[in-house]
Amino acid sequence: MNFKQTSLSSLNQVSEKRSALFKKLQINNLEDLLFFFPRDYEDWTEIIPLHLVEDGATVTVKAKIISQPKLQYRGRLSWLRTSLSDGATVISAIWFNQPWLSKKLQVDFEYYFHGKVQRQGNSFSLQNPQFFDQTEYEQQKIQAIYPLTAGLTQNLLRNAVNQTLALYDNYLIDPLPDQVRQDNQLSTLEFSLEKIHQPQDKYEHVLARKRLAFEELFLVRAALYLLKRKRQSELIANVLEPSPQIREKMNALRSSLAFELTGAQIRAINDLLRDMRQVQPMNRLLQGDVGSGKTMVAAFGLAYAVWSGGQAIFMAPTSILAMQHFETLSSMLEPVGIKIELLTGQTSAKKRREILDAAEKQELDVIIGTHAVLEKDLILNNPVLTITDEQHRFGVAQRSALADFEQKRFYPHRLVMSATPIPRTLGLILYGDLDLSIMDELPQGRKPIQTYTAKSEDMPRIYKIMRQTVERSEQIYVVCPLIEDSDLTDLESAESTYEKLSQKIFPDLQVGLMHGSLKADQKNQVMEQFVAGEIDILVSTTVIEVGVDNPNATLMLIQNAERFGLAQLHQLRGRIGRSDLVSICILLSDSEDELALERLKTLCQTQDGFEIAEQDLKLRGPGDFFGTKQHGLPQFKLINLYQDHQIIERVNRSFQKIIEQDPDLKSQNNQNIVKAIKQRYPELLMGITL
Ligand code: ADP
Ligand code: MG
Repeated sequence: MNFKQTSLSSLNQVSEKRSALFKKLQINNLEDLLFFFPRDYEDWTEIIPLHLVEDGATVTVKAKIISQPKLQYRGRLSWLRTSLSDGATVISAIWFNQPWLSKKLQVDFEYYFHGKVQRQGNSFSLQNPQFFDQTEYEQQKIQAIYPLTAGLTQNLLRNAVNQTLALYDNYLIDPLPDQVRQDNQLSTLEFSLEKIHQPQDKYEHVLARKRLAFEELFLVRAALYLLKRKRQSELIANVLEPSPQIREKMNALRSSLAFELTGAQIRAINDLLRDMRQVQPMNRLLQGDVGSGKTMVAAFGLAYAVWSGGQAIFMAPTSILAMQHFETLSSMLEPVGIKIELLTGQTSAKKRREILDAAEKQELDVIIGTHAVLEKDLILNNPVLTITDEQHRFGVAQRSALADFEQKRFYPHRLVMSATPIPRTLGLILYGDLDLSIMDELPQGRKPIQTYTAKSEDMPRIYKIMRQTVERSEQIYVVCPLIEDSDLTDLESAESTYEKLSQKIFPDLQVGLMHGSLKADQKNQVMEQFVAGEIDILVSTTVIEVGVDNPNATLMLIQNAERFGLAQLHQLRGRIGRSDLVSICILLSDSEDELALERLKTLCQTQDGFEIAEQDLKLRGPGDFFGTKQHGLPQFKLINLYQDHQIIERVNRSFQKIIEQDPDLKSQNNQNIVKAIKQRYPELLMGITL
């Protein structure tokens, strides 16, 4: 029986109509149901003696009915009352409006009761408890709790799962090789699928989860590995060999800079150049904390690509950023003869046509832009390199557009850049099909950003600091959580802050306003003014979080700092401290919430993105910090990328061992892995583009 092709309506109690409700939960067939895991369990295995029941608690007790249940009516309301004893203590049990129960409850009989305790004076009673005899209890003492949708109940789901498990008959091949299971002490697939839904005791579902979580990650790891392998063996790129002239030009470019490249930048550039000399297309992730100077690495990549006779594309997630990169890169590369254009949604139709035309004739070397560059009419004569900045900001759709663009005979080399701090082990999984360059070094002379928390009452002092900053000809960001005032909250809005600062506090200074609902060219204009030093204080929402670079900005005031995630605050703060000037970040918050304050304290103590990410994890618990959704990976059902460190490491180790022996996963055993990926994650092997 093929579960993947069997609709739920083949089950009892699941009509066509009901199966439509299951579809809302992404359960389209029996296999989906099998892999639709409980979000929790109702666990009645902990039985407490009656003398320990407490008012308000929900408890499970084992007790004998010691008095004939008494049914009483008032009008249409009824209640049924009886006494329970465990030999030492007596409490009562009461059921409202369920008169039929009086026939089911037998005196002198022992049952398991589960319900809420209420205290009246010195006596305790269980309110509307559920009850089971010994056999029923054994079957139901641990019950799965599933995520639901309107119209479905736990019982419907449990029942459907129960029927599916009865049909299961071991039809799925266990994709994990025996050796892997042994090394990691994992249970079989059959056992795990049954026990994750219907555990008989606490430990069974822990075992089941461990195995299934391992498998989930293992298959994704394997799929990404296969993708990488495929890319390496099938796709052909332009081999960009450096001639002596190119080497000379690269060296000249390096000495034309106003600063020395950092060791990390040099290593990353070397990684790029080495990759581009290969016939396999480069597929590399450049990961570097905010301010580590990734743009410079990109610049050298672009120059190398162009001097080798090719063309390149550099994409940024927002037009502000694209524009900024355009300015930085054109001022650096135009003087050495590289022709660069900016192409965004704001580019006029005429200009756009000119750019497209020049690109096709290769009169143009580098195009910098937003995803607008990816439209079908852009044809480059000889594209050899694509670079994506702030990779994590791009949606999946935009990324597959990039993949479309790349469907040429020669694949361009590809570099993606990201500031998201991802622990290495996790990176291996999330970016399993990418090579990794890590920039773990900031440019010389950077001073740590002094970070402080402050309250509203400190504002007069803060205004003084602001004025001093402007008097030193340095600039300021003021970040607000909202664009405009709202009746619903008393959060500071960018608009009201802008008014206050420009009219009341600093009428003599240039205050600018920037937020997401401005038109793109307005945003660009404000940004240009700010970078040109025409604006002293820029009031903004988080639109400036992405990559904006103005080294002369040295003070950042973040209002309602408690409203932002740690990672986001880290990114925001990364807008300052971009030169050898001293920078100060003030986290303004009147929150009394201890957790919130602790999070802010973390930022005051460290500037290391990894440390902050880890702390965030501890304090906030899991979330989609790493943006797995955006990476186009399947949503993990079981694995928790934050907490399951051990599993992540074990998966890596086991998988590594396998490919050392069988790099193409050709053996019988390993073919089962490939089959399972195709069966369970067909979309993964089809065209995920990281
Ligand atoms: P990010 O990695 O966050 O994208 P940027 O590329 O925007 O960082 O660089 C941050 C700032 O550091 C820019 O102003 C850039 O000009 C400057 N910068 C880059 N490399 C160096 C270096 N080696 N020495 C000094 N400053 C540098
Ligand atoms: Mg950047």
